[in-house]
Amino acid sequence: MSKKLINMNGDLTDNFYRYKMPCAIIVRQGAFYAFTNIDDIMKPKYINRDINSLKKFLNKHFHTSWSYKNNSLITSASINQNKLQEAIFIYVNKFILCSKCKCPETENINDKKDNYNKCLACGNIDEINENGIRIINKINNKINSKINNEVNNIIINKVDNNDKLEKDKISEDLDDIDFDNI
Ligand SMILES: [Zn+2]
Repeated sequence: MSKKLINMNGDLTDNFYRYKMPCAIIVRQGAFYAFTNIDDIMKPKYINRDINSLKKFLNKHFHTSWSYKNNSLITSASINQNKLQEAIFIYVNKFILCSKCKCPETENINDKKDNYNKCLACGNIDEINENGIRIINKINNKINSKINNEVNNIIINKVDNNDKLEKDKISEDLDDIDFDNI
């Protein structure tokens, strides 16, 4: 059976996106569900992370526990292929893609002190916490939205002032006209 590859970022409409990964496979095994190709998906040529990283995310995402056995992640919760695939896309977007250039070629450095991704394409550093929220990016966004707000305010003020000036000028002009002598 040939392996079906899909865009890592979850944008299934972009035919030119070069970063692919295998579709997640989940099969029912008695009372359990087994995510059987996690090893493959986490390989360096695809997601390139430790299996535990995705396992931890899936535990949280599905509020259920997964255990790694016989090269599969096993859970007792009823999770279908679509739900699992969607979760993996969320994981990739939160924990893998560079926040600056969106490239998935990032290296995760995670020790007791720091947890961050270094982008091998653009060199950007994304600090991440356990929820996958990029702290640096969040701060940047905050700063950017503050700047945008300030710029917008200035533009609005300017327009308002211009309007006012315009009206004042018009009424002044009107005052100057001697209607009786027209
Ligand atoms: Zn980058």
